[in-house]
Amino acid sequence: MIIFGTRTKVLSNKSQSTTGNCDYCGTVGSLFAYRQIKYFHIFWIPIFPYSSQIITICSHCKKVSDQTQINPQTLQSLSLGAVRKTPIGYFTGIVLIGLLISAIFAAGISGAKKKQEYLKDPKVGDVYEVSYAKNGKTMRTIYRIAKLTADSVTFDINDYEADSRKGLRKLRERYSDSYSEKRQVSRAELEKMKSKISSIERL
Ligand SMILES: [Zn+2]
Repeated sequence: MIIFGTRTKVLSNKSQSTTGNCDYCGTVGSLFAYRQIKYFHIFWIPIFPYSSQIITICSHCKKVSDQTQINPQTLQSLSLGAVRKTPIGYFTGIVLIGLLISAIFAAGISGAKKKQEYLKDPKVGDVYEVSYAKNGKTMRTIYRIAKLTADSVTFDINDYEADSRKGLRKLRERYSDSYSEKRQVSRAELEKMKSKISSIERL
């Protein structure tokens, strides 16, 4: 199976009419013009065309001419309409990649917005991913809000720590209920912790 690579496709025209005479064999009215696209694909999905040109094929001698071989006068009359344009479908991959990037971007923005909202109005049970420096390394752990007063926030601090985001995910799966230490901060201090908090989740 071919997973990715390049392909060549000659598009058929909607109406079949000849575009001229063959310079090669001299037959009158034997020349047909088509658009030929070369494109990258992954599986069956076209990513983007890297070449799009008009070719002519003589129905008599079967001579195929690429765009550089077609005489300029014929070419000009052709590009005006007879030949199909590159269909948008050949840009599918680029469109999908674009959508994916905007989705990631939008998710990032909404995550940042949520963090901002949750910091301003904390609730008991909010789960914070917190990073801190320890022996020159960045360590991460989980803080969970245990108690709130008018001017303070008390966290349960997870008993475990991780040195990577991946490790933190594992920690959350395995030790989601291992909290024994507590830490109280003022609401003003909470705002200062912002840059150390990578995400906040609320159930
Ligand atoms: Zn010919």
